[in-house]
Amino acid sequence: MFNQLLLKKDLFAAIIAVVIFSTSCFGQTDAEKSKLTEVWEPVPGVVTPGINNSAPSDAIVLFDGKDISKWESSEGNPAEWKVEDNCVTVVKKKGNIQTKQGFGDCQLHIEWRSPIEVIGESQGRGNSGIFLMGRYEVQVLDSYDNKTYSNGQAGSIYKQHIPLVNATKKPGEWQMYDIIFKAPAFNEDGSVKTKAYATVIHNGILVQNHVEIEGTTVWIGKPYYEKHNDKEPIVLQDHGNPVSYRNIWIREL
Ligand code: MG
Repeated sequence: MFNQLLLKKDLFAAIIAVVIFSTSCFGQTDAEKSKLTEVWEPVPGVVTPGINNSAPSDAIVLFDGKDISKWESSEGNPAEWKVEDNCVTVVKKKGNIQTKQGFGDCQLHIEWRSPIEVIGESQGRGNSGIFLMGRYEVQVLDSYDNKTYSNGQAGSIYKQHIPLVNATKKPGEWQMYDIIFKAPAFNEDGSVKTKAYATVIHNGILVQNHVEIEGTTVWIGKPYYEKHNDKEPIVLQDHGNPVSYRNIWIREL
């Protein structure tokens, strides 16, 4: 008898709760309901976009077509590539060049041009490359009507990820890469905590969609991870072909 009374009391309480809840919801305007899911903090900082792919207001300009002072040779000497006609061009045997500053997570904009005079084939034609953190290569290659292994063509993460499509322009035409890069993280013992990831947009077309990088780019064998600093230079490759670069800017993320 006592138990039955308790049950009735609980049921009554539940009904009252449902009625109160429903009337409170029905009583709300759409604007009031919307407010329940509005988030006002933090407020994103204001960035002024660039015009015609130029650097936005919060970017570091790494090369403006004239000033190569933010770059150096692998040995720390002045970069010896040729700066002319608003771009910098690989000079064979002068070696790779790299940024003096190190970078980790970033958004990188870089424009490149393979030589108008078509010489060589496969990996021997318009080959260069952009090594994020000095290790993870986004391949630069004249892949316009130039067959090579798919995981080594323009827009590939060299020997790791085939680009989704071939968006390469003709030799002599300027091309763009917009790269979003997530740096790897390492444990104390040197093992990998989280791998690196890259997204690559080639001439406005997505060619790598947040792909997992398997380790340092290697020509022969399997990629592997080796613990390195949180920030490392960006390296441009001298592969012996006179590939040109211009309008290079980066946003640290
Ligand atoms: Mg290369």
